[in-house]
Amino acid sequence: MTALTMPFDNSYARLPERFFAHHEVAPVASPRLIKLNHRLCRVLGLDPAQMESADAVAMLAGHRFPDAASPIAMAYAGHQFGHFVPQLGDGRAVLVGEILAPEGRRFDLHLKGSGPTAFSRRGDGRAALGPVLREYIISEAMSAFGIPTTLSLAAVATGEPVYRETALPGAVLARVATSHIRVGTFQYFAARQDTDALRLLAGYAIARLYPHLAQEAEPYVAFLEAVIAAQARLIAQWMSVGFVHGVMNTDNMSVAGETIDYGPCAFLDTYDPAAVFSSIDQHGRYAFANQPHIAQWNLTRLAETLLPLLDADETRAIGKAEAALAQFAPLFNEHFRALFAAKIGLTTHRPSDIDLIQRLLKAMHEGQADFTLTFRALAGALTQGGEPGLLSLFANTYGISQWLPDWRARLDQENRSKDDIAAAMRAANPAIIPRNHKVEHALAAATEGDLAPFEDLLRALETPYTDDTRLSPWTMPPMAHERVTRTFCGT
Ligand code: AMP
Ligand code: MG
Repeated sequence: MTALTMPFDNSYARLPERFFAHHEVAPVASPRLIKLNHRLCRVLGLDPAQMESADAVAMLAGHRFPDAASPIAMAYAGHQFGHFVPQLGDGRAVLVGEILAPEGRRFDLHLKGSGPTAFSRRGDGRAALGPVLREYIISEAMSAFGIPTTLSLAAVATGEPVYRETALPGAVLARVATSHIRVGTFQYFAARQDTDALRLLAGYAIARLYPHLAQEAEPYVAFLEAVIAAQARLIAQWMSVGFVHGVMNTDNMSVAGETIDYGPCAFLDTYDPAAVFSSIDQHGRYAFANQPHIAQWNLTRLAETLLPLLDADETRAIGKAEAALAQFAPLFNEHFRALFAAKIGLTTHRPSDIDLIQRLLKAMHEGQADFTLTFRALAGALTQGGEPGLLSLFANTYGISQWLPDWRARLDQENRSKDDIAAAMRAANPAIIPRNHKVEHALAAATEGDLAPFEDLLRALETPYTDDTRLSPWTMPPMAHERVTRTFCGT
């Protein structure tokens, strides 16, 4: 118990006991704040000075909780690489409570790496500093790109080692989400044929995440459609910045439509639709261009769990689920087209634009062009003077040389000034992304006790659309020896 007052109201903990396991504290040697997200504190209505107090740091480390907390480990199941596991749950995480923020918004405060829970199986419930800071960096970047994501409130060192292949410094990530309900949460109750719990969970998710749907004639159908729509948009947004999630298991897909559970994720350097970074994704299930297919597969698993709620008649229920799922591809395609159209400077819509986009991507693939730099250099290539800079990104310029006249002809139909188009393109194409080699460098330095590269990278990521030449080192792709081809969970 501590004197810390937190604006908690813990609605999930008021659900029946079978939704979670209560969690006691798991004390650590010496909790020490590494990083506090001041901007997020303000969004949450928390005082940054108070969040730096010993009591707050103890909470953020899972070391000691305030009275208003009701710490629980949430129950969930999930398909991991296509294999169903009926019980996963928060094995190294705990939901401390729900923060009631200004404007009536509600956020989960969730700790990752806070010690063993009832769901830890053989795991230690702990996390190493590197993966904690990786999630911190990538979620901040996604947020700066305007992509829905869980957010990092703080990183706290535990003062204890965790043992992976070697002993590593331990840490806890305090993260915030609109909710931590996953596709796998629904699967947990479906696997137990617990329809009462499914109805409660769906009702809870609607009330909390999609309250306007409660009035619909068929709220559960509307809920399924809403999750499908949110994921179709999210995956298109990921792809628009070259993001590869890496572990799109159903337990890592949020029904709130936020990016969640950053593990061995990565950003494309050279464009390759088959890019896979995660060391555990041996068959490329979660490759860059496979992400929409996997999202649809995961959503199909969600739809299956909802069948008993969609209609009392099973055949009709299946028909409703199929109709909802059929919306995923057109929704995804529309978001993808719109996002990439903006990336190449288009504001109007023609059906043939998708061919133009796909031809550019093909030229980038064949030319081994850097994804981020290509779109950035395109704005410069609006004028002939900027063309060499663009072409220099391509190992083979045949495709891009064929493409440029068609692109310019298409832009001419828009009747906008080149300056306007260039400004819009620069606002649609980040110059600074968390390059894998920069992330790895920052994590390696932090593990050795030097947090400066982590802080520098975070600062650069605050202004991803900048032309400030002082930040140009952050825009550079890796040199051959710096290239990161494999990423690891490492948790
Ligand atoms: P994730 O890698 O976040 O998708 O986790 C998959 C499952 O493994 C979840 O149920 C986690 O809680 C569990 N898990 C991962 N790492 C650990 C750990 N160090 N200790 C206990 N459980 C873990
Ligand atoms: Mg997970």
